[in-house]
Amino acid sequence: MTINLDSPISEISVLGKRCAKLFSGLGVHTCRDLLFYFPYRFDDFSQLVRIGSLGPRMSVTVRGQVKLIQNRRSFRRRMIVTEALVADDSGQVKVLWFNQPYLVKNIRTGDMVSLSGKTSDNFLDLQLVNPMYSRIQGGEGGGDARILPIYTTTEKLSQKYIRSLMASALSLCLPLVEEWLPDDVLEREDFPPLGQSLNAIHNPASKDEFDAAFTRFQFEEMFLLQMMSLRAKQQMQEYTARRISLNRELTGKFTRALPFLLTESQKEVAREIMHDMEQDRPMNRLLEGDVGSGKTVVAALAALNVVSGGAQAAFMAPTELLAKQHYANFIRWFESMGVSVALVTSTQILGIATEDSEKVSVAKMKKKAQEAIMRGDVDLVIGTHALIQDSVLFHDLCLVVVDEQHRFGVGQRKKLREKGREETMPHLLSMTATPIPRSLTLALYGDLDVSLLTTMPAGRKVIITKVVPDRYRNWTYAFVRTQVQAGHQAFIVCPLIEASDTLGVKSVEEEYKRLKKEVFPDLRLAMLHGKMKSEERTRVIQEMLWREVDILISTSVVEVGIDIPNATVMLIEGAERFGLAQLHQFRGRVGRSIHQSYCFLLPTDQEKQEVARLKALVDCHDGFELAEKDLGLRGPGELYGTRQSGIPALNLADITNVAMIKAAREWASRYVYRLEQFPALVERVQMFEREVHLE
Ligand code: ADP
Ligand code: MG
Repeated sequence: MTINLDSPISEISVLGKRCAKLFSGLGVHTCRDLLFYFPYRFDDFSQLVRIGSLGPRMSVTVRGQVKLIQNRRSFRRRMIVTEALVADDSGQVKVLWFNQPYLVKNIRTGDMVSLSGKTSDNFLDLQLVNPMYSRIQGGEGGGDARILPIYTTTEKLSQKYIRSLMASALSLCLPLVEEWLPDDVLEREDFPPLGQSLNAIHNPASKDEFDAAFTRFQFEEMFLLQMMSLRAKQQMQEYTARRISLNRELTGKFTRALPFLLTESQKEVAREIMHDMEQDRPMNRLLEGDVGSGKTVVAALAALNVVSGGAQAAFMAPTELLAKQHYANFIRWFESMGVSVALVTSTQILGIATEDSEKVSVAKMKKKAQEAIMRGDVDLVIGTHALIQDSVLFHDLCLVVVDEQHRFGVGQRKKLREKGREETMPHLLSMTATPIPRSLTLALYGDLDVSLLTTMPAGRKVIITKVVPDRYRNWTYAFVRTQVQAGHQAFIVCPLIEASDTLGVKSVEEEYKRLKKEVFPDLRLAMLHGKMKSEERTRVIQEMLWREVDILISTSVVEVGIDIPNATVMLIEGAERFGLAQLHQFRGRVGRSIHQSYCFLLPTDQEKQEVARLKALVDCHDGFELAEKDLGLRGPGELYGTRQSGIPALNLADITNVAMIKAAREWASRYVYRLEQFPALVERVQMFEREVHLE
């Protein structure tokens, strides 16, 4: 039997089928999967420190036996603290973990553990705080292994077993591994070859050897990503698009009817868009602009010119709320322009003519809407994901606008775009209010041209922002009250919907009840969260718009795009649980008119570090800068809050490494035109593209 990279791992294991089962939970099926299953860290036993010689502020690995481990509640900090005592033959040290109560199930008294982390500041009360840990089983980690890889694993699968199977895979399969990076790249960037790199990842002789290999894999991922976007760009250029010409008269009429003057920045971007759409190649433009910078009206200008030439435009938003809000705006703007607008979401259809006497079901309305769109009776269709359903077909779709584009996956954006006429491709305008750090734009959206809205509409005041300690809570409420008395409205954001075990974290339902009863019994309160029915949520937003609600208590659903110009206070509970860019988004819900607005951040946890992070918002009002800071502090995964799609899954690459992004892009642009000369690379690129599209 011959082993190749695609052989199931059961073929290299004495455990056979049982081995396959153990690994399937980790997504490892073939020998190739196994070789690319990288450790998440190392225990560097070359820097193993004896507990008796620990001092303050040291980064160390210690090994010892757990003498005691238990959970306790810390009332001051309002969280659960796991305390342990770990000893070796030279002494003992106290270990603390915060908010990881499940640890007592993983580590028990008597266990041998290895802990890597930092010691506390105070010599007299020396502690290891939140160290990474691993249990050491029978003899493991002993011997002469000095740098030991630690893999993410499951309960039934030991580190030891992973390491031993990896050793088999390395000896059997490394000779079969074929290099896919061109020689030129390896040479000039000084990267080790693939086989050697894989060996260095799993079995490094030194930290330097590991680092060199790891850098190679980081580069490789970035290179593949750049290759993918350059290929997408290349493919796009093979399509033709309908030329859209500027309708001066209608554009003038539209801008004159607006209750404000366009900013210079808006005009500039509108010109860039019109210039793109005048070509017979599809526009691929990303419009980046901070919250409230006025992207919608720019998109409206583009749509107006498209429909005035007899074609159709589609405008896709990530939530029903947002789609409805856009619909209301566009109806108002386009009413006197002779443009017909429809709304299509999964629960609602608006703007499709029916006989007065007719009372029709949603299903029937949907059918009517689909027919009208297909006939071309509707010029502009606004909607949610519902727009990408197969049943929605257009007569002549020439412009696709995607609002808050990072909330959609690559595939979803593509699908809407495939609804153009045969052989043509609609122009694309992607918009994002979540600012993407400039370094990221190139890394992630290398296939798009970028426009920036750099200035805010005139007359906006800087939103006064404060991090408020808990003892000033009542003062804050009194302030909210004075704003309401002055005729304004307020938002209060809480991290959770329902009360939970997580101590001290506020939930919308609890807070709503408490505030209604104890703090603002005389004011009009309402709540908003993602578990409410869509109609209910729309009703609440409507009431807020019509000023029938004074204070809206909400989860992060208010984050995206809701426009209530009369609101002047944004109070955020548990603020430390959100990223800076996301907090900036919340803040952007106020300050949308000429009135002075305020944003109060109330951290649950008064830990100094957290408060310091939040303080960045006090002085900084530039979303790009905040996103950049977030990226540095919390990494790209955290940038847009919890799991928002649209960003390709990068496992290794560091998207803050601008130099590497640039190098990867340069290499990719050199090879994209002669890719077919490098079959191993072609295969690798195709594999990468499949992975990204499956995500
Ligand atoms: P975003 O870029 O966050 O999507 P919007 O398009 O929702 O922002 O615009 C925010 C608010 O600013 C809206 O109420 C919009 O009507 C208003 N607006 C847009 N452009 C201007 C302008 N040039 N002057 C004044 N107000 C404007
Ligand atoms: Mg918007």
